[in-house]
Amino acid sequence: MQDAVTFDPRERHAAPAASATPDAPETSDARAKREFNKLHKRLRRQVGNAIIDYGMIHEGDRVMVCLSGGKDSYTLLEILRSLQRNAPVDFSLVAVNLDQKQPGFPEHVLPEYLEGTGVEYHILERDTYSVVKEKTPEGKTTCALCSRLRRGSLYGFAEEIGATKIALGHHREDILETLFLNMFFGGSLKAMPPKLLSDDGRNMVIRPLAYCREADIAEFARQMAFPIIPCNLCGSQPNLQRQLVKEMLAEWEAKHPGRLESMFKAVTNVAPSQLADRELFDFAGLEEKQARMQASRIDIRQES
Ligand code: SF4
Repeated sequence: MQDAVTFDPRERHAAPAASATPDAPETSDARAKREFNKLHKRLRRQVGNAIIDYGMIHEGDRVMVCLSGGKDSYTLLEILRSLQRNAPVDFSLVAVNLDQKQPGFPEHVLPEYLEGTGVEYHILERDTYSVVKEKTPEGKTTCALCSRLRRGSLYGFAEEIGATKIALGHHREDILETLFLNMFFGGSLKAMPPKLLSDDGRNMVIRPLAYCREADIAEFARQMAFPIIPCNLCGSQPNLQRQLVKEMLAEWEAKHPGRLESMFKAVTNVAPSQLADRELFDFAGLEEKQARMQASRIDIRQES
């Protein structure tokens, strides 16, 4: 089931494998298997490319994969395991789940799943749920504080276990949604980077699914029958604005297929001189630049 080499730039433009189709008609089982293999290979290729493009994983890295029990983090762990087997660099994986003590959290699900994978894992127990409930006024959304506490716990734990990278399961749509949320409500043009150094310089965060489509991940998770843990156990309302942006993007994509891919490309292809950020581009120095350019043109004319 594995294709031969990954993390290998040669695989980047690899042609899809030809389907073995002699004259016999393909059974529906065979077709489903072929489609699944294509999906698996696509995810492997996209993750491998993101890892190469952003220098996410190096020889000897100990990569802590944050496993929430959702489709994205299961897929992330599975694809990284698959790449690890053929990667030209040697790195280790350690899965970590943060049990936030939400009522009804099925504590047995992740340990049972992880035992079956053979991956080193830790279940970190922190009752952030009580803290969030206590500190958040009634009727206010709890997600911001909850995420901050979760991040703090996971970052601290990564240091404790000597993880050199923290891998998160955000995908292409998460990145685009964040871009629009920041534009609509934050007045800034920023998204979620594929690789990030934490503000205090202690942790390196990577997002190997950055190039992957959410629909592919959802289909992969469905076919792999991952034991998904619902994300609404805390009883909080999902972030309404993110939901609206998600719907907006889905509608655009439905009306204009390829728009999300183009928008994601735009995030990787920024032209600071065509925006208006004075920190990023020296607009005040344009006259000086013009004078230099004109002087060099005069020099060239005099020489000829
Ligand atoms: S939905 Fe619940 S668990 Fe998820 S971030 Fe919000 S408060 Fe935390």
